[in-house]
Amino acid sequence: MINVTRSFMPPIEEYQQYIKKIWDSKCLTNDGPLLKELQIRLQEFLRLNYINLVTNGTIALELALRALKIKEGEIITTPFTFVATTSSIIWENCKPVFVDIDKETLCIDVDKIEKAITKDTKAIIAVHVFGYPCNVEKIQEIADRHNLKVIYDGAHAFGSKYKGKSLLGYGDITTCSFHATKVYHTIEGGACISNKKEINEKIRALKNFGNVKGNYEIVGTNAKMSEFNAAMGLANLKYIDEIIAERKEISELYDELLNGIVERPKVIDGVEYNYIYYPIILKDEAATLDIIRRLNENDINPRRYFYPSLNKLNYIENKINCPISEDISRRIICLPLYNGLKKEKVLEICKIIKERVG
Ligand SMILES: *Cc1c(COP(=O)(O)O)cnc(C)c1O
Repeated sequence: MINVTRSFMPPIEEYQQYIKKIWDSKCLTNDGPLLKELQIRLQEFLRLNYINLVTNGTIALELALRALKIKEGEIITTPFTFVATTSSIIWENCKPVFVDIDKETLCIDVDKIEKAITKDTKAIIAVHVFGYPCNVEKIQEIADRHNLKVIYDGAHAFGSKYKGKSLLGYGDITTCSFHATKVYHTIEGGACISNKKEINEKIRALKNFGNVKGNYEIVGTNAKMSEFNAAMGLANLKYIDEIIAERKEISELYDELLNGIVERPKVIDGVEYNYIYYPIILKDEAATLDIIRRLNENDINPRRYFYPSLNKLNYIENKINCPISEDISRRIICLPLYNGLKKEKVLEICKIIKERVG
């Protein structure tokens, strides 16, 4: 079975060398040496001041809201993303207010944000969906004018750059996921990234039971990354440039074979892309389901990223229409894209799609 993704596995001996260090240190977690090393290496690789590693990308979003003292009120967000962006807002007792997406970049439509702001609005949580940048300048300008915090869910953005700077370096806080299915992983894992020392200190305390210099001064949780996860992160980081280069090659082959046949999201100028996903947009839902079925018959498993549009979730109380997100959600799929995916498979996938659409 060819799935939409397959986790990158570093050479086992290299992972074992890190595991040996854990046996030597007998330190398994709690801000251990491998975690510290990985934080520094990631800061260097991304050229960011602080990166705070946590257990996963969902709790990173929850910690981000807590660190910015947002405990209630409305959060402006996008419906076209993975469910965790929305569920973490609700988990933190806030109310998601959905703003429709731009039909080209699939990120939140910045021209519709201001209309959604009320006296209860506290923050904007935008998503660099599929690693394509949001309009970060415009979002910051709106946030400044209305005194709102900005959080980016950068779960897809590791390795993407905008105007020469890591896409993880924008907003008050950007969160990231290092889940096994992402472009760079620590098996399970995530991060909170902020340029500000105070916010970084706050997150450090929050993820460690609220411990500030030995005293439990604030209410915290346990979101610490273990040494085993950090070991996987260190082993994988060595290959990140190769990982992205190979994904780029596969994506360009898809581009060549599907050119003019399917719609694709638009990448804005100034982006160095990480090639995390290969989304294609089809004519309508029937054509989309037909292609999924045809691919499945050939043991190929694309994914409906992202369906449904999250404003349609059962547990959302304030029903807001987001026609563009709803429309795109019904007719978008991500094609298999991962390191080691064979060229012949890409040819086969494109042949099947062409038979149905061409
Ligand atoms: C994967 C993902 C998350 C959640 O990350 P986990 O590490 O799996 O908890 C959040 N937001 C988006 C957009 C994601 O794709």
